[in-house]
Formats: sequence, C-alpha cells, structure tokens
Amino acid sequence: MSLEPARGPRRGIAMVAHDHKKPDLLAWARWNRDFLALHDLYATGTTGRLLQEALDVPVTRYQSGPLGGDLQVGAKLSEGGIDLLVFFWDPLEPQPHDPDVKALLRIAVVWNIPVACNRATADLLITSPLLFSPDYQPERPDFGAYLSRPTGA
Ligand code: PGA
Repeated sequence: MSLEPARGPRRGIAMVAHDHKKPDLLAWARWNRDFLALHDLYATGTTGRLLQEALDVPVTRYQSGPLGGDLQVGAKLSEGGIDLLVFFWDPLEPQPHDPDVKALLRIAVVWNIPVACNRATADLLITSPLLFSPDYQPERPDFGAYLSRPTGA
C-alpha cells in the first residue's frame, strides 16, 4: 500500500533514533523523503547525519543524544517550532542516557507535541489531515497559572 502523507503548512519535525532503531527510522524517512523535504527537520547528531546522507535534505543537527542531544531537542521543543517528534527509542537495550530519554518524552507531553515512537505511529501521524491542516494547530498549553503559583518564598 502506498501512503500519501498529508500536505499542508511547513512544520518542524524532530527525529531521534537509538542505534538499533536507526535502520527503522532511515527506512521510514527514505519512504517519506519527498514529504520530509517540505518541512524543517531537526535531529540528534548521528541520526541527523544519517538522515542528511540518506535523504540529501538539510537537517538541523544537535549533539549526539548521549552527549546532550536529546536535551537540546527537548529545549527546542519547549521553545516552540517543533510540531512532531519522531523518536524511535529502543525498548530492548539499556541506554546510558536513559534520564535524557525520559526527559525528552516528558517535555513532549508537557508541551502537547505529538510523538511517534514506532513506524506505525509515524505513518499514522504524517498521514493525518488534522496535523497538517492549515486550520489546525495543537493547543500550546498556557502555564501562566503555574508560573504565578504561590511558592512560599
Ligand atoms: P544519536 O542520538 O542520533 O546521536 O545517535 C540518539 C540518541 O541516542 O538519543
């Protein structure tokens, strides 16, 4: 079956894959190369290098994940500008930067960013007319009340 990714406004798409999941992410990205080329791409260091080589498209690359790249993607995500996180983390392999992995997944939930952790979900998200509709932007949470909470200080 050939997938037809949704067309729409330019979005920020961040991609991260653990080593054993890189072949999966690259296969997915190759399949969707023309779609990805329409968007602003971000990635952790090694994932980004492999994507650039495979797709011949510009990718904003951060540090390698275990060297702080996951945290940089998380920071970018909290600043705004990332509309979709494709994060193929490895459920079968312990990671030295497990706290950073959790931090990235957590901050994506905090900011209501759609996250795909496997190919099926990535396929479903990029073919969603809603995610790429010019009329739809996921709500960005308002943390005003939280920021002005009494702290006792
Ligand atoms: P990498 O980092 O793209 O630099 O390999 C991914 C990760 O392990 O978080």
